[in-house]
Amino acid sequence: MDRIDAIALFSGGLDSILAARLLADQGLNVLCLHMTSPFFGDARQIPYWQNAYGLRIAQHDLGDAFVELLRQPAHGFGKTLNPCVDCKILLLQEAKKIMLAHGAKILATGEVIGQRPMSQRRDVLNTIMREADVKDCLLRPLSAQHLDVTPMEAAGLVDREKLLAIQGRGRQEQLALAQNRFHLAKIPSPSGGCKLTERENARRYWMVLEHSNDPKAKDFDLANTGRQFWLNVGETFYWLSMGRNSRDNDALRALRSEEDALITFPGIPSPVALARYGSQWPDEILKLAGQTTLSYAIKALANSSRASMNVSCQSSSRSFVVEANRQSGFSLPDWETIHTTLKARRRRQLAPENEYRNTSSE
Ligand code: SF4
Repeated sequence: MDRIDAIALFSGGLDSILAARLLADQGLNVLCLHMTSPFFGDARQIPYWQNAYGLRIAQHDLGDAFVELLRQPAHGFGKTLNPCVDCKILLLQEAKKIMLAHGAKILATGEVIGQRPMSQRRDVLNTIMREADVKDCLLRPLSAQHLDVTPMEAAGLVDREKLLAIQGRGRQEQLALAQNRFHLAKIPSPSGGCKLTERENARRYWMVLEHSNDPKAKDFDLANTGRQFWLNVGETFYWLSMGRNSRDNDALRALRSEEDALITFPGIPSPVALARYGSQWPDEILKLAGQTTLSYAIKALANSSRASMNVSCQSSSRSFVVEANRQSGFSLPDWETIHTTLKARRRRQLAPENEYRNTSSE
């Protein structure tokens, strides 16, 4: 294995490219880490990035560790379902482990002081650094000259004079660096994109977080696929994912687990639907799922809105005749409903004494 001097977190955004290139320009051997999860990261881009930006990049999948964090983020959510502070702590903790495994001493990020409202404020940066236990190795090459001298700079492992003093939200300095110094042929957007910040995706994830028993990364892969529906009957929540096109249909087939059921309509062009744990669903719920699924194949039905559906489980398959019905009860809550629940929960968390008093007076 080559000698590695520095590990650099690499999102694919411009700041992460510049931070890694600044260190490589000093003659350091830099290994970039592209962290992935169901919510961010795209490992398919790595060959392109390596070629376009002259960097060595490895994928590191956070998988279930990120989902565990998402279930109860110690520092809460941002505007949507993005647990940014906890996320950054986890990313740094993971990167530090890899840094130590390589015998490297520098852990670099593309963070810029004052660029983002919360997670890049100086006090929050300090919290992240402390909780991730990276005080002795964290380097922010783009803002380094605004920050205290790090042990790596003091030891001469990195030349502080060649690091930068960028701060704030402006992009001019980064763009000038990309164009005039590093001559990047293509300049990407500031960050790689995170589905947790988008309301439409947050609606999908929230239901899994709230109503799935011990959710894992593979559950969120399913939540990312096709249309999403839930049905609540009594204490039970039923989860149905439906393909929008043949690519989704193939993905659903691939994501099916032993206890799931696959709903299809043989002989007519129609979506495939996956009933999570559908092998345990009562027939009447499966029929409601079939009604919903068929309602999205209505063009294929010509003059009839009834069709025979096949429910295929691991070891058995059954058929029912159902009628297309988009009002069968399967739906997805809107963001406002979810947001109200989140706000109420946050208020309760911020007032533990009140909660204690309420409980103890009962
Ligand atoms: S936006 Fe997403 S990827 Fe970025 S820090 Fe927040 S949770 Fe993590």
